[in-house]
Amino acid sequence: MVELLSQSHNQQVSVVWFKRDLRLNDHRPLYEACQRGKVICLYCFEPSVWQARDADGSHFRFVIESLEELREGLRARGGELVVRVGEMLEVLEELWKAVGFQTLWSHEETGNLLTFDRDKQVQNWVTARGVAWREIPQTGVVRGLRSRDGWARLWKQRMAEPLTETPDRILSPCRLDPGNLPNAHTLGLAESTKLAAQKGGAKLAEETLHSFLVERGVGYRKEMSSPLTGEASCSRLSPYLAWGNLSIREVFQSTRDRVMDVRYAKEEGRPLDKRWAQSLSSFEGRLRWHCHFMQKFEDEPAIEFENMNRAYDGLRENEFREDRFEAWCRGETGYPMVDACMRALHQTGWINFRMRAMLVSFASYHLWLHWRQTAVFLARHFLDYEPGIHYSQFQMQSGVTGINTLRIYSPAKQVLDQDPEGEFLRRFCPELEGVPKVYLAEPHRMPASLQQHVGCRIGKDYPRPVVVHREAYAMARQRMGEVRKRPEVRAESLKVQERHGSRRRGTRRRK
Ligand SMILES: Cc1cc2nc3c(=O)[nH]c(=O)nc-3n(C[C@H](O)[C@H](O)[C@H](O)COP(=O)(O)OP(=O)(O)OC[C@H]3O[C@@H](n4cnc5c(N)ncnc54)[C@H](O)[C@@H]3O)c2cc1C
Repeated sequence: MVELLSQSHNQQVSVVWFKRDLRLNDHRPLYEACQRGKVICLYCFEPSVWQARDADGSHFRFVIESLEELREGLRARGGELVVRVGEMLEVLEELWKAVGFQTLWSHEETGNLLTFDRDKQVQNWVTARGVAWREIPQTGVVRGLRSRDGWARLWKQRMAEPLTETPDRILSPCRLDPGNLPNAHTLGLAESTKLAAQKGGAKLAEETLHSFLVERGVGYRKEMSSPLTGEASCSRLSPYLAWGNLSIREVFQSTRDRVMDVRYAKEEGRPLDKRWAQSLSSFEGRLRWHCHFMQKFEDEPAIEFENMNRAYDGLRENEFREDRFEAWCRGETGYPMVDACMRALHQTGWINFRMRAMLVSFASYHLWLHWRQTAVFLARHFLDYEPGIHYSQFQMQSGVTGINTLRIYSPAKQVLDQDPEGEFLRRFCPELEGVPKVYLAEPHRMPASLQQHVGCRIGKDYPRPVVVHREAYAMARQRMGEVRKRPEVRAESLKVQERHGSRRRGTRRRK
């Protein structure tokens, strides 16, 4: 299909619909459209998408920053970014009447139910108008996958495909009003409050990739789990991948090149930090996870709302406690690691994987909150919100897949393991500034006189624990243990494994 698509045709007019692929490099729909003739590059701000419960002003700002750069890049090539605010069908209809395009180009999107339904409407619209819609994959996610057997091989093939050339000339059909980039209020969004969030754009994305591969990533394997070291040692590529400032194929191929550099350096006896080989190998694994988790969502979009393993239905549904939820959302649970991570998210929109897992574990086990509410809250707060990864991970960390090991994190142990000096805690919970190190993991254990002395009175300056760890932990283990023993849970787990479980190296699952 690749060859066929690349052949040049008569001068056509195409619309390239930019979605979560805000870049010029390795952008196959743009390249294919340019090969065929005139191109309208469209970004549509759909009010239904931006007013949805999982959207946030920080996402919006990141997209605006990305679009500013994209527009500049298109103009430098003779093209234009046409920006519209409106529902996609209305916008398509308006453009079709004005220009009469024949083809709509876009990347495939593994989005939430809202965008999935929107895409179905677009499909009906193009069929009715006789417009061809060419959707091209941009990740390792395989649409219409029948079985997970052999998926890893397909993923590798996708990642090995050559990067698509960036067109150097873009022909526009006629003078269309380019449209201004809207502000957050136009879309009913509050301005982003995440003043320390990463900024959008393909240039920054490339710089971030480069600095990780040649400098920051050396200690990745050992340092990724601490929120303190992870800040610099993790790649920080997630928002760029989520909004498409970079293609995952480019990240994968750059990583491969770096792996080869490291190998040659070793063979040639050149000095190089030994940690690189292991760190790069761990990182490559994460790139595969990116698509592995998204594939689950592609195959079963219902997991945005329903337990992957339906035998867990009813486990938490009727026990939602608003007060607990609010304390968790605000970062006021009385457990410093939970609170510091949540407050870090409020300011930056990012936290490392281990701490995301701990936040969810605390909400789902200690507070016994249903993942449906907590997932939407964090979707808004993660700058890198990617529905496919997000809901699959959320269900896994909440113990409702039936195929993953039960992991209930102790927030106090995470302090000792990941931030023993309390540097991260004190940065995001300044009220703990004077608390002696020995009490930092559980400040409520300080004697009252010491609380007074260090200016951190529990219940006044810093919250009292919202639950007692030991009790909540024991209760959660017991309840999960009971459910997991039920025959219907086991039977359903086998089905989940068959449908979504990873098969190492593409081999068949053992029967
Ligand atoms: C409950 C929960 C929700 C999550 N929601 C999201 C989300 O909405 N968007 C998102 O991009 N990641 C999500 N993650 C996965 C992971 O935490 C982030 O990808 C990672 O922390 C981003 O930082 P980084 O780019 O520096 O990651 P790195 O460690 O440098 O990894 C590089 C890339 O690999 C991918 N990746 C890394 N870890 C994972 C993982 N565990 N699962 C799938 N892909 C992974 C990401 O694309 C990431 O950018 C979630 C994890 C949990 C536990």
